[in-house]
Amino acid sequence: GVRDSDDSVSGRVRVAVRLRPQNAEEMVADADFADCVELQPEFKRLKLRKNNWDSDTYEFDEVLTESASQKRVYEVVAKPVVESVLDGYNGTVMAYGQTGTGKTFTLGRLGDEDTSARGIMVRAMEDILSNISRDSDSVMISYLQLYMETIQDLLNPINDNISIVEDPKTGDVSVPAATLVDIRTHHDFMELLRLGEAHRVAANTKLNTESSRSHAILMVHVKRSVTDMESEIPSDNYHSLHMSKSSKPPIIRKGKLVVVDLAGSERVHKSGSEGHTLEEAKSINLSLSALGKCINALAENSPHVPVRDSKLTRLLKDSFGGTARTSLIVTVGPSPRHRAETSSTILFGQRAM
Ligand code: ADP
Ligand code: MG
Repeated sequence: GVRDSDDSVSGRVRVAVRLRPQNAEEMVADADFADCVELQPEFKRLKLRKNNWDSDTYEFDEVLTESASQKRVYEVVAKPVVESVLDGYNGTVMAYGQTGTGKTFTLGRLGDEDTSARGIMVRAMEDILSNISRDSDSVMISYLQLYMETIQDLLNPINDNISIVEDPKTGDVSVPAATLVDIRTHHDFMELLRLGEAHRVAANTKLNTESSRSHAILMVHVKRSVTDMESEIPSDNYHSLHMSKSSKPPIIRKGKLVVVDLAGSERVHKSGSEGHTLEEAKSINLSLSALGKCINALAENSPHVPVRDSKLTRLLKDSFGGTARTSLIVTVGPSPRHRAETSSTILFGQRAM
């Protein structure tokens, strides 16, 4: 793909890789083996071990080690996207990787007991809420689950088959049937996210599936009214503030942030699965490979981005490419037992660059 040092270039997907620390089980099971991933963050490089004497080296926009804090991950991966959303653009942050490698840890952790544990969704909302005006601006959110090409409303479970509507003139996509909640405070948002998570657990129990088999999609619509001279006028100067308001109408800036916790990328082995599991696997493969094709097309500056192939890519249509900013975080674990999955995750990330 095209590599640019200027990351504001449109269409460019920024790709970061994050390595999860070894867990308790791996400390025992992998004790006699070397980790299959070695990071060189100063060179933004990842080495994937092939065998005892050889490894492949890959470069990313950012390489986040086991000790990278949630705060740092947010700043590197999501903050630039959030800033452009506040400026009136659309943007996407998504996490891709095998189940158990830290997608939800990275995006969805609430950090109730310990605020340093907060993930990208919570930090993004904190940033957005602290940059808007309570009286003239608005922040509205929807929270959806996409499972087997069906969109469910995590804020209102009765709503379990939502359609995507596309504006023929602007090409903007929307889900008019989805619950849209006006968020005023951080507390409002935390309550809603908790409710959404509870609904997600209930819905997946009913469908007899794991949450790792579906995509969770948080959409944040930000509407701000800004005046050109806003920054130049001291707020205590009533007269000039008044003048500027009467002479120049405020400009409305609308941006949309989409945060996507993707379904686990692991291949379900067709030989071992049948019926429901096989259909699930096919559906996940369909949406993830459609996503892969779209981000490859973006990386190659191709005029044709095949968004029509899945609901996931149709939903994201106006949130990547064009003036939208996209960040992809690929998550991997250190265990040599998952080397093949880790390799395929890394290649997915590489194809986006
Ligand atoms: P996924 O959503 O990709 O299936 P999770 O986010 O649920 O993975 O993470 C799996 C487990 O690993 C969880 O117990 C989580 O707390 C832990 N974990 C993931 N990433 C990290 C990390 N960077 N540091 C510490 N623990 C992590
Ligand atoms: Mg998860």
